[in-house]
Amino acid sequence: MNTEMCFPGIKGNDALRARLARDIISGSGLAHAYVIEGRPGSGRRTMAKNIAAALCCERAGSGLPLPCGECPACRKIFAGISPDVITVTREDGKASIGIDTIRDLRTDVHVMPNELDSKIYIIEDADTMTAQAQNALLLTLEEPPAYLVFLLIAENSRNMLETIRSRAPSLRMQPLPPETVAAIAAESSAEAARMRTEDRNAFRGIIMAADGSAGRAIELFEGKEKDAVTARRAAATEFCRIACSRGHGRELLSVLFPYSSGKRDEAAKLLGDISLALRDLALQKKSETAPLRFFADRDEAEALCGEYTLSRLIALYDATEKARDLLLRNANTRLTIFNLMQAAESVGTHKNKG
Ligand SMILES: [Zn+2]
Repeated sequence: MNTEMCFPGIKGNDALRARLARDIISGSGLAHAYVIEGRPGSGRRTMAKNIAAALCCERAGSGLPLPCGECPACRKIFAGISPDVITVTREDGKASIGIDTIRDLRTDVHVMPNELDSKIYIIEDADTMTAQAQNALLLTLEEPPAYLVFLLIAENSRNMLETIRSRAPSLRMQPLPPETVAAIAAESSAEAARMRTEDRNAFRGIIMAADGSAGRAIELFEGKEKDAVTARRAAATEFCRIACSRGHGRELLSVLFPYSSGKRDEAAKLLGDISLALRDLALQKKSETAPLRFFADRDEAEALCGEYTLSRLIALYDATEKARDLLLRNANTRLTIFNLMQAAESVGTHKNKG
């Protein structure tokens, strides 16, 4: 079977899909455990269900895509009702997965699968397992029953013991291109579909803010954060526009002031957006095809970066990152913002030397 016919339900992540497809089709490279890692909203659970279904699909080898999504095994797995695909989560309110949860699991793994040839455990937030829990899991990983597969969902596998990682190859979910995030969001969220036709600029801004994560985009479109994100992005763009011209302290202040008296967290997020925008402008200066993470419109980035020298962009970026770092370490919001404004002004004053 052609590896391109595998995982039709996974967007992007071509290299990952091809590698898994090879493992699953040949069977020889298949591990008893994988860590599926990436940011929340990056499609880790979708990937886990797809792997489970690909392993158990009743129509494997029939020329249909793998998983087919239609056979009883696939349907049950995608609906979350297969008795042989078991999801393990943190107990309510707990910050970690403790030893008791893994002890129960270790007893359960020896019960043969009900319907399928494999028994698959999806462990959510696996990187929150305590060291004790990980060591207990390791005992099973060292001598797993042949039918057993663990899919460990994690934000960062570095938080897990090396002994686990050496037995569980990492599958790292890659950020999706903005056009793919836009397509998924418009399919999954009525509000996204509405904004795509009625408020195109704000729509594209939210897509960029989701930073390659379809799950995050849907959360933003459906949640309460949307307007704050849009306002922050407008302020960050305006900051870049003003800072590139010679010393406009008053104008800079009008952009930053609303954030200087509000929540520190919002101010830090604004500075994060400004950093990202400045990073885009510096990249755009070097290459017209550099992937942008803040600007949805490359022409806008091109026009803005034409007003800057590279050294000024870098000086502004450094000042912004320094201010953000201070805010994250609980510095006074008003003072930090004021200092950044002064730094931006002085970078502007040296325009002709840059
Ligand atoms: Zn199937």
